[in-house]
Amino acid sequence: MGSNGNDLHILFFPHMAQGHMLPLVDMAKLFAARGARITILTTPANAKIIRPTIDDSIYLHIIPFPSTDFGLPQGCENQSSTLTGNQRMNFFKAVDSLRDPFDAVLRDLCPDCVITDMFLPWTYYVATARGIPRLVFHGMNNFALCANDAFERCRLVVEEAESFVLPDLPHQIRMLRTQIMDFEKLAGTPMEFLLEKHKEIIEVDTKNYGTVINSFYELEPEYADHYRKVMGRRAWNVGPVSLCNHEMTGKLLRGGEQSTSVSECLKWLDEKPMSSVVYVCFGSGGFFSLAQLRQMALGLEASTHSFIWVVRNGDDNWIPEGYEERIKGKGMMIKGWAPQLLILNHTAVGGFVTHCGWNSSLEGICAGLPMVTWPLFAEQFYNEKLLVEVLKVGVEVGSKVYEFNPEIRPILEAASVEAAVRNLMGEGEEADERRRRANVLGETARRAIEKGGSSDNDIEKLMQELINLRKQNFPQLLLQLDLLLKQGYLQ
Ligand code: UDP
Repeated sequence: MGSNGNDLHILFFPHMAQGHMLPLVDMAKLFAARGARITILTTPANAKIIRPTIDDSIYLHIIPFPSTDFGLPQGCENQSSTLTGNQRMNFFKAVDSLRDPFDAVLRDLCPDCVITDMFLPWTYYVATARGIPRLVFHGMNNFALCANDAFERCRLVVEEAESFVLPDLPHQIRMLRTQIMDFEKLAGTPMEFLLEKHKEIIEVDTKNYGTVINSFYELEPEYADHYRKVMGRRAWNVGPVSLCNHEMTGKLLRGGEQSTSVSECLKWLDEKPMSSVVYVCFGSGGFFSLAQLRQMALGLEASTHSFIWVVRNGDDNWIPEGYEERIKGKGMMIKGWAPQLLILNHTAVGGFVTHCGWNSSLEGICAGLPMVTWPLFAEQFYNEKLLVEVLKVGVEVGSKVYEFNPEIRPILEAASVEAAVRNLMGEGEEADERRRRANVLGETARRAIEKGGSSDNDIEKLMQELINLRKQNFPQLLLQLDLLLKQGYLQ
């Protein structure tokens, strides 16, 4: 380790949702491995998920979460376990109520810097009042951050357009209007709290000390530069953070809820030929209507490729008649939480059907896999563009509408699913070229995080900068102490 990291204390405060918490815990591990003193701030139920995946070098600081005060079920401390829009709103309110406990933690622990999630914008004000720099983690890549910014600039002009090109980006990125959420449209609806949150996030975005990004420079150099030079943000690309999980246990326990079928699933994969299986998973919040699940089931079956499919919907009454019997040996369903890192990196897996959540997309990239892209909401439609048009490792399934609610989201027919999977897993120059590119990206990703790689260097640079920052502030602190002594406040 180059910098004297042992001197540096960083406090991480992840937003309690799997897609935000898992990467930030991974990031904390990367900084700890380089010698920084790390505290992760979280709540009791989330601590249970995190603890088995970290070692003694990381300190877990736990504050209570007021679930029941905000009408949430006892123990509901993670956004991934909120089911309705109303629950989600109450969850956000409960998270916002952590402001004072967060301040008390800063007072007691005096970290040199805090790295907190974008959904906790108030942490900027609390940290700043205590003279502590706040770095923000958006959970997004540079491309999506730039695309978001481009959309904000053209939002009013493209209001009525069916499609439009995002202005002033390094590539010509054409979006359908239906693929982007206009937060302003939430005004006066039950989802208005998201508009408020969106405004608060934007309000502090340029004030933060900087941004830490789960990406690596070589993946999206034009956008990493655009984010820094055109948008003027101070940013460090420190990913892919999931690559910190070298050990089997880290990969197995990541995310907490263990499905009983893990060993069965790995045994099943062991018996399959190399690169023959498609892995299908839609992250922690990818729920579908029963009608859509049925079409997906039929499409996967018709593709004739072997598949592992993670289904998070609770009941089974959507499964087509005789389906489980027909797919025996060919398809496996995991009902619940899957050990995604283990599956993606198994040699039998040759393709990934993803909802384009950034963690999943980047984990697919690290595993060197081509992907079928099936975005649902959030910045997933931007990630699809990055995968399909910029990196050219993705095949679109044809998802065209941004929609949280699975019951009103347009249904994609089995034929679209079948065609996309056949295209992904098939032979021919186009599919081979896609696989080759994916493979190269996987190698580049691994190199970025190794000693001397671009992300390793960015972590090192950031740590050094934070150490220097503290050194600069140190004399000022001494002067203040001196003054207090002179005034008789200290003995
Ligand atoms: N994940 C997992 N098992 C599952 C579903 C998801 O381990 O069954 C992990 C996945 O590896 C990723 C994260 O959960 O790290 C999901 O993040 P992503 O950004 O892909 O999607 P989100 O859940 O935020 O929509």
